[in-house]
Amino acid sequence: SAAPLGSSVIPIVNKLQDIFANLGSRSTIELPQVAVVGSQSSGKSSVLEALVGRDFLPRGSEICTRRPLVLQLIQGKVSDGEYGEFLHLPGKRFYDFSEIRREIQAETDREAGGNKGVSDKQIRLKIYSPNVLDITLVDLPGITKVPVGDQPSDIEARIRTMIMSYIKQPSCLILAVTAANSDLANSDALQIAGNADPDGYRTIGVVTKLDIMDRGTDARNLLLGKVIPLRLGYVGVVNRSQEDILLNRSIKDALVAEEKFFRSRPAYNGLADRCGMPQLAKKLNQILVQHIKAILPGLKSRISSLLVSVAKEHASFGEITESKAGQGALLLNILSKYSEAFSSMVEGKNEEMSTS
Ligand code: GDP
Ligand code: MG
Repeated sequence: SAAPLGSSVIPIVNKLQDIFANLGSRSTIELPQVAVVGSQSSGKSSVLEALVGRDFLPRGSEICTRRPLVLQLIQGKVSDGEYGEFLHLPGKRFYDFSEIRREIQAETDREAGGNKGVSDKQIRLKIYSPNVLDITLVDLPGITKVPVGDQPSDIEARIRTMIMSYIKQPSCLILAVTAANSDLANSDALQIAGNADPDGYRTIGVVTKLDIMDRGTDARNLLLGKVIPLRLGYVGVVNRSQEDILLNRSIKDALVAEEKFFRSRPAYNGLADRCGMPQLAKKLNQILVQHIKAILPGLKSRISSLLVSVAKEHASFGEITESKAGQGALLLNILSKYSEAFSSMVEGKNEEMSTS
């Protein structure tokens, strides 16, 4: 099934969050940021939108993303439903996601003008949903060579500097997006990602537009890493075309069409783990689980020291609270069991999801 980003990590993170909530403390499970980079119109916004599973980003054949969009996904209550809130419009809840898109466009124009101008001033949007993981995604303007409209003559250098300021951060996961119908050997995305992450520990290659490659060509060798090797590998995807956008085709329909595309092309036989948006989400989830696994020892020691201080506090109450101390011991027991269960859950997850 089409698992958007985070769906398989949510139960793990929630369990951890529960442990901390029981201890009366807010957990600090900081997940890495995810940023998309690549040439203009390579399909960056389309990829992000498909990962979130909602329609709300401006997309199009001309320059659309002209300011960095910092998108914070926040797990909200089921009763509150799904809504967006902009930093520049505090308190205003957007339940209609096409209205979110219009506001992104309007706010882009307010800062960067209506004539293709680009600004490095962020738009900050929070999306509250019961179905998301607390993670931050960053949509960035694409690399462009020739200035158009109000763009200054050094537009390329400016955009590169802007992109680098996000992806040079060691905790940032980079989705390097290249359209399959462009010159792959000269991919802007892989080039700039390589500058920021030379060892390739945090770069995933995403190849879009497999559906509109030249007749007789395919991306098989590229997806296999035979053209430009990449440590974390590639995922090929088919997102909605401009025509699909004009026809208001849904994400759900697009996923069905994508699956059908890969099934019907012999060139992608045997590459199921490198094809399709659900695979990209899965790959990201695996990386997030690895990340949680890496911070687990630190979280465990935080839990133990919290438990020690709880126990001490109870002990200091003396006789009157004997029953309370008993409760403390009980709580302690429950929690250590909980954290053991959590550990084995993470270990299990990793075995199950280990890459081939
Ligand atoms: P960005 O500039 O990199 O953010 O690219 P967008 O996501 O705005 O997409 C640019 C254009 O390419 C839009 O018209 C999309 O509909 C189209 N597009 C994106 N991905 C695909 C794809 O996989 N196949 C096809 N046919 N069109 C796509
Ligand atoms: Mg875009």
